[in-house]
Amino acid sequence: MTGMPLAERLAQVIGEEGPISVAKYMAAANAHYYATRDPLGAAGDFTTAPEISQMFGELIGLWLADLWLRAGRPDVHYVELGPGRGTLAQDALRSMATVGLTPPVHFVETSPVLRAAQADTFPQATWHAHVSEVPQDRPWLMVANEFFDALPIHQLIRHGEGWHERAIGLAGGRFVPAIGKRLPDEIIPVDLRDAEPGSIIETCPDGVANMRLLAQRIGAGSGAAIIIDYGYDGPDIGNTLQAVRGHQYADPFDSPGEQDLTALIDFSTLAAMAEMCGVAVHPAMAQGDWLLRLGLAERAASLIEAQPHRADEIRAAQARLSDPEAMGRLFRVMAVTSPDWPKPAGFD
Ligand code: SAH
Repeated sequence: MTGMPLAERLAQVIGEEGPISVAKYMAAANAHYYATRDPLGAAGDFTTAPEISQMFGELIGLWLADLWLRAGRPDVHYVELGPGRGTLAQDALRSMATVGLTPPVHFVETSPVLRAAQADTFPQATWHAHVSEVPQDRPWLMVANEFFDALPIHQLIRHGEGWHERAIGLAGGRFVPAIGKRLPDEIIPVDLRDAEPGSIIETCPDGVANMRLLAQRIGAGSGAAIIIDYGYDGPDIGNTLQAVRGHQYADPFDSPGEQDLTALIDFSTLAAMAEMCGVAVHPAMAQGDWLLRLGLAERAASLIEAQPHRADEIRAAQARLSDPEAMGRLFRVMAVTSPDWPKPAGFD
């Protein structure tokens, strides 16, 4: 069965067992998608902030280095979730090294293709399949850019008398939305229970579980984490499941495993989980504002001074990362720090 294309395998499962949950579909589709390609950049399906400019990773590295210096230069691990090509890590670690911070590198990455790409730049890194496997003998300096949005979401849909798991079935050889099993009302937030028929609420148990693990780790062993993604303050009504292929939006029900599936992340729910774990939470703020506070414009100016022939490209990258109509507002930055560490820059 493994030799079969994913769409055929999923169709077979649906044919035998009935519709599958959106979460099961998204997990299978993204596992296949990331395992079989490098999706990043102009030749791929989408472009992330670190692939736009070195300034993104550099500022994150400086943010971590500043915290580390004020925390008294402890021995730490650099931990990155879903590092893609390793570009952010390369830029961050280069700027961290300027103050003498050269920690061991740990990548949480499941894709063999992307692990190989990361190993080109970081032959000495240690790879892990899950955040729970990262060694706990030192504090972590942790980064996750566009990692949480790739984790599978459940969609709960209001239908008939109550709420159901939203599912995916088959009709005429195509994947189509279906209504799955009825869910107890108690799991729906009270203020959303009476939403109109067809309303959708999303939950991401994998995201919450990752946040719990990293917050427990940072609470118990100190350190800091920075999470950058596009998201909202939930729980709320909304269908944010989205597919991207060749830099265009696509139908999420089409070609599972051949296009990138994402969902907005619920920053409030992640923050609430982190708070329960006893860490200091610095709530999500706009990526553009945060980068500008950390010195994006100054960094761009100094790069332009060094390479005047690249001025237009560098200015364009600055705008793309920070303008509200580009990535500046849609993308948000949230940090979690140990309660006995200093306050991180950029959040007050
Ligand atoms: N952070 C990178 C790449 C973002 S794409 C950048 O900003 O360019 C998402 C990354 O998360 C990829 O590296 C992908 O392989 C990885 N990934 C997706 N789901 C994962 C999972 N469940 N466990 C570990 N890594 C995962």
